[in-house]
Amino acid sequence: MTRVALYPGTFDPITNGHADIVQRAARIFDRVIVAVAHGTSKSVCFPTDQRVVLARVVLADVPNCEVCRFDGLLANFARERGARIILRGLRAVSDFEYEFQLAGMNRKIIPDVDTIFLTPAEQYQFISSSLIREIAALKGDVSAFVHPAVAEALVKRYA
Ligand code: ADP
Repeated sequence: MTRVALYPGTFDPITNGHADIVQRAARIFDRVIVAVAHGTSKSVCFPTDQRVVLARVVLADVPNCEVCRFDGLLANFARERGARIILRGLRAVSDFEYEFQLAGMNRKIIPDVDTIFLTPAEQYQFISSSLIREIAALKGDVSAFVHPAVAEALVKRYA
């Protein structure tokens, strides 16, 4: 049986924390699908296609990882792709409540899929896409937290 893990998110933009989670998952599962959400209720900084391209650049050296966009319900996408595992990252206790609720809801919708959580290395635990966007918008240096291609895209975006 091929174990496929689906890692959904907005990835607006992908950070070193996300990449750390993917690298860890790639050692555990046969295949990791990074699923970039299109049409989320959040207002985004980068359009979906650019978020996908940036994630592909960042994760280019992870051979068993694939990046694609998805529309609509995650449960439907998981079924379509034959994934039995939803992967999420947990940084702090503050992530827990939302993630717990999401995992519970997904279990109701698609009971044969389990949510698995991984924690990033310590140095990535404080990184969030929203803080990265905020720093970049204020012309701060985000190069310690994201891949150079992402840093460059942020500079252009907020020029
Ligand atoms: P969402 O908008 O659904 O939270 P994100 O793109 O922000 O999606 O993140 C996708 C997943 O990655 C979530 O499970 C989130 O908790 C996790 N994540 C975000 N930042 C980090 C980080 N620095 N380290 C580990 N996991 C992270």
